[in-house]
Amino acid sequence: MVSCKICGYETDKTIQQHIKFKHNIPVSEYYDKYPGSSVYSDEYSEYLRKRINERDPSYKKKLSESTKRLYQNKEWVEKHNRALKEKALSYIIRKGQKKIAGHIKKELWIAGKIKI
Ligand SMILES: [Zn+2]
Repeated sequence: MVSCKICGYETDKTIQQHIKFKHNIPVSEYYDKYPGSSVYSDEYSEYLRKRINERDPSYKKKLSESTKRLYQNKEWVEKHNRALKEKALSYIIRKGQKKIAGHIKKELWIAGKIKI
């Protein structure tokens, strides 16, 4: 069971749609307002996790074939890496540094963009 922190609505799957359409806010905003909460029930996230795992092999293969091609393009890789860093940086500015993955943090720290 999962319940909406805004109005107390309960469901056994997810309140994702509920938040979007009943309260008119994106789920990301809900997470901002209620840190540590989930829009999925434990049962449903377990189900989703299982489904992703089952789908994983073909998904991975598809991904690796197209990304392999992309990664052979040096220009693209540089552009991609730069875009990722910029994204991480703007994310840090918006959310504070807490949610950033360690390796990105370290890289930004090395580049002198943030203080740890
Ligand atoms: Zn609600």
